[in-house]
Amino acid sequence: MAHKQLIIPIFIPFGGCPHQCVFCDQKGISSVKALPEPLEAARQIELYLSTWKGKGAKEAAFYGGSFTGLPEKMQKDYLEAALPFIREGRLDSIRVSTRPDYIDAQRAAFLLNHGVRTVELGVQSMDEKVLALSGRGHGPEATEAAVAALRKAGLKTGLQFMPGLPGDTIETILDTTQRIIALEPDFVRVYPSLVLKGTALHRMYLGGRYTPWSLEEMTEACVQVKRLLDEAGVPVIRMGLQPGKELEESIAAGPYHPSFRQLVEALATSKN
Ligand code: SF4
Repeated sequence: MAHKQLIIPIFIPFGGCPHQCVFCDQKGISSVKALPEPLEAARQIELYLSTWKGKGAKEAAFYGGSFTGLPEKMQKDYLEAALPFIREGRLDSIRVSTRPDYIDAQRAAFLLNHGVRTVELGVQSMDEKVLALSGRGHGPEATEAAVAALRKAGLKTGLQFMPGLPGDTIETILDTTQRIIALEPDFVRVYPSLVLKGTALHRMYLGGRYTPWSLEEMTEACVQVKRLLDEAGVPVIRMGLQPGKELEESIAAGPYHPSFRQLVEALATSKN
């Protein structure tokens, strides 16, 4: 039997982030308002490890911002806060999340040399127009280059995908899914686009310039997305944002359901 893995989340809201993607309210999602000190990250790791009784692999995960966009000294300080736990054999590895255009061969080597074994890329879409309308500041080729650099360095690669962004249609969503499959990621997370209060997307929605997908439409679309990923053997480790009071209070509109994955799986089963 596989043992449950421990992932210790350390949120760095907007850390290293120069862009304001229209959908993003990273502070609201992670419920941490400022960058934590590296010492704070070490305390968090210690706290999780000292109370964890499981036998699975243990990983510290720097989530929330664009880790590799932080000044290198700051990245080093965070990673070095986690490294002593790896040396002591109490922690197995580190994962970080970042933007595709912030990964190249040099950054991938730096991460590998500092204990990182998994990188999650916020791909969001592989459609040029959808990426532009969402204010991402990079095109699909940045994702292709980043995945190639991570693979060459021997890092595990997870891709995050947000169906339902401005300009998305069922065709662009399925095309993005196929292009993600072609990149052979180690895993995928699917986060249907939601309108969070105070974001640019919220203003677009209020001004009639963005119509969120209904829960029904998004569930239907994700049945197709999941089927393609399943057929290709790509593990889907999450569908839908982690439910929580703060997230629920910040949602202005969009296809939210606390058990979104179960909805998708139930609909897929009923269609079989
Ligand atoms: S999605 Fe990432 S890159 Fe975009 S604004 Fe949010 S933290 Fe920054």
